[in-house]
Amino acid sequence: MSAFNDLKKRLADVHNLEMAGALLDWDQQTYMPRGGIGARAESRATISKLAHDLHTQSETARLLERAERESDFAPESDQSAMLRRARRDFDKATKLPAALVEETARVTALAQVEWAHARSEKDFQLFATWLEKILDIQRRTADALGFEDCRYDALLDQYEEGMTRARLDPIFEELKRETVPLVHAISANDGKVDDAILHRDYDEISQKTFAENVLRDCGFDWSRGRQDKSVHPFCTNFGQSDVRITTRYDSGIASALFGSLHEMGHGLYEQNIAPKFESTPLGGGVSLGVHESQSRLWENLVGRSREFWSHYFPQLQSAFPEQLKGENLDGFYRAINRAAPSPIRVEADEVTYNLHIILRYEIENELLEGRLAVADAPASWNARMQDYLGIEPTDDAQGILQDVHWSLGALGYFPTYSLGNILSVQLWEKALEDAPEIPAAIARGDFHLLLGWLRENVHQHGRKYPPVELIQRATGSELRVAPYADYLKSKFGAIYEL
Ligand code: ZN
Repeated sequence: MSAFNDLKKRLADVHNLEMAGALLDWDQQTYMPRGGIGARAESRATISKLAHDLHTQSETARLLERAERESDFAPESDQSAMLRRARRDFDKATKLPAALVEETARVTALAQVEWAHARSEKDFQLFATWLEKILDIQRRTADALGFEDCRYDALLDQYEEGMTRARLDPIFEELKRETVPLVHAISANDGKVDDAILHRDYDEISQKTFAENVLRDCGFDWSRGRQDKSVHPFCTNFGQSDVRITTRYDSGIASALFGSLHEMGHGLYEQNIAPKFESTPLGGGVSLGVHESQSRLWENLVGRSREFWSHYFPQLQSAFPEQLKGENLDGFYRAINRAAPSPIRVEADEVTYNLHIILRYEIENELLEGRLAVADAPASWNARMQDYLGIEPTDDAQGILQDVHWSLGALGYFPTYSLGNILSVQLWEKALEDAPEIPAAIARGDFHLLLGWLRENVHQHGRKYPPVELIQRATGSELRVAPYADYLKSKFGAIYEL
């Protein structure tokens, strides 16, 4: 089976170049001095070009075809899965004409700068022509990638294989129907929860030490990972045994702590993929939605639970004796679960978060199809904020200009955040069904059972199964909104005495 082995070796080279690119990107976002940007942009462009060239050369195509032709692997085998993945990756990489790839890189690089400027000026009109250009590029991208029903499906499939608008529309409609009344009920009871306790002056060193210990307990392997600071927290990796997470500190306790738990969830996924998949097409998380289910599960279902804090609150209190003097577990639990409509997505709580996503999903679809004119987008944004969350942004920076995604050309990306939220609850409930002792173990600061379940049912498989199949295997059903909606209603119904 020499074509198969030669193909694997070649794809490992592509992978290694991509890892080098990821390292340059990580460094840019953590330690690079600002003046390094010019040279760094060149280095990154060269590495991506080399990786893309190697991936799409006719020799790769030849090896792939030969390996497919000669394959006598069982359909369920890792090798067959590897070939299917290699084919999908290759087709995706070669479908886009080089000129379009280059145009996308050039326009989005400029658009990001213009977006940042428009945001600082709080003026959407400064970004409007760039959004027009990006929509045009995205339409051509969708046409090149191909689709059955609508262009949006082609864009979405880049981030969440197999997901389509026809599947998403009813998911989001149900989510909206369940969540909007809950948000309004919570808003009417806003006085019930006070989170002032989170906003006292917590020093950075103690926050860092506390979070690092929590992450160690949860199972994050510090001998194969590290945490640094960046403006926007993220997780990246240069192989399964070098996982980098970042965080940011402010004087409050919540941002770095929950941000760290979130990125750790992504990191645990990468650290626990089967070693045999390292540097093959099956290495790495399978989709953005599944990845986000891991970060959300650790951040919210574990990190914002009463069991978790019944173990950690006394420790937090001894780390911050001044700030938490006279406070108790119940008050802290309620504070970290305060829900209140706010204009900014990244600061949104569990209840309101998905409405921010649905709003973006609806608007980017209408823009892509030309049903909404770019000039009218801010008004449409603000009207939806009013409908779903009962608030109106004070300006475009607090509204339509807050996220970087569109300037990067990443249409179809936002829905994966909500898919992750929905899936996190399904996975959690299945884990508890299989191992009902999990909450009691968490209350002792013991996460082995939970991490073991996730490793067994999600992590180890890497990209072996398409997301839809992985979800079916892990939870025994397809993606379902009901468990998530019930979880929100029960948790926040109790906190807000609804
Ligand atoms: Zn995330």
